[in-house]
Amino acid sequence: SVLLELAELWSVALCRDLADAPPVDPVAVDLARGLQRGEVVPWYQPVVDLVSGQVVGVEALARWRRAPGVVEPPSVFVPVAERSDLILDVDLAVMRQAFADLAGWQAVRPGFWVTTNLSARHLAQEGWTGTLQEAAATAGVDPASVILELTETAAPADEASSRVVVDAMRGLGYHVWFDDFGSGWSALSDLGRFPVDGIKIDRSYADQLGTKTGEVVVRALVSAAAELGLSVTIEGIETASQYERARNLGCHFAQGYLWSRPVPPAAIARWV
Ligand code: C2E
Ligand code: MG
Ligand code: MG
Ligand code: MG
Repeated sequence: SVLLELAELWSVALCRDLADAPPVDPVAVDLARGLQRGEVVPWYQPVVDLVSGQVVGVEALARWRRAPGVVEPPSVFVPVAERSDLILDVDLAVMRQAFADLAGWQAVRPGFWVTTNLSARHLAQEGWTGTLQEAAATAGVDPASVILELTETAAPADEASSRVVVDAMRGLGYHVWFDDFGSGWSALSDLGRFPVDGIKIDRSYADQLGTKTGEVVVRALVSAAAELGLSVTIEGIETASQYERARNLGCHFAQGYLWSRPVPPAAIARWV
């Protein structure tokens, strides 16, 4: 499918002068080629259990090894990829490698888990759950140790059918979380319309943990989540005092530079 997309990108580029088609982003063309060469890989950020203080899992975050010594962050290519089906290949490349790495870590530390980012575009793809099942089975990973983070800045095109797919994934044993909760398209009302297993509170709330309003808002989110039986992860914890506050407010898990930035897989071994 990468080949098809590449062909499509080029044919659009060739017709550009004739029609008034929008210009093709050269990054998209490069990325399609990079995906084919296996240049898109996951790095990992530890997720800490706020009760035990232990690292219990990791989030897989895409990195593009574009050239020797060059590692591009998602800001360079994820927004570009999200404008086409290229994002499907990015997600899948990250997911396949993350499942393989997870199988290795679980041999040392049973129960360790991984979260991976899933563009809402997948939910509209015919056969997506089959692809997911095949990826997990290939690595020998139990769906129960996989969390899929729904990450999108816009609402899925067809909410009703997206919901059916989310229900199907949960029925297969995968956990589904809303990413960047409280920003973008996720609102409190979505929790009722779109059943998930957990929320990741957006980093912007961690920044406000020192203020009265910030704490009141996070407490309200934690309380709503608790009543709905959802787990709560807070992102972007950078200081010891944010960590204390998040724990006192009842968040279950946290990630942030306080513990570690995203790192290559080999650097996760010490946490495992
Ligand atoms: P995200 O899924 O919300 O991931 C968290 C981002 O916050 C990561 O940025 C991480 O490095 C950063 N972060 C973590 N802790 C801290 C902190 O304490 N302070 C600050 N300032 N930042 C922190 P990253 O790796 O650059 O990823 C950015 C976004 O790109 C992700 O946000 C996600 O939306 C998207 N993304 C990454 N990988 C994938 C992927 O495989 N597929 C898709 N569809 N999107 C991805
Ligand atoms: Mg995420
Ligand atoms: Mg997030
Ligand atoms: Mg995000």
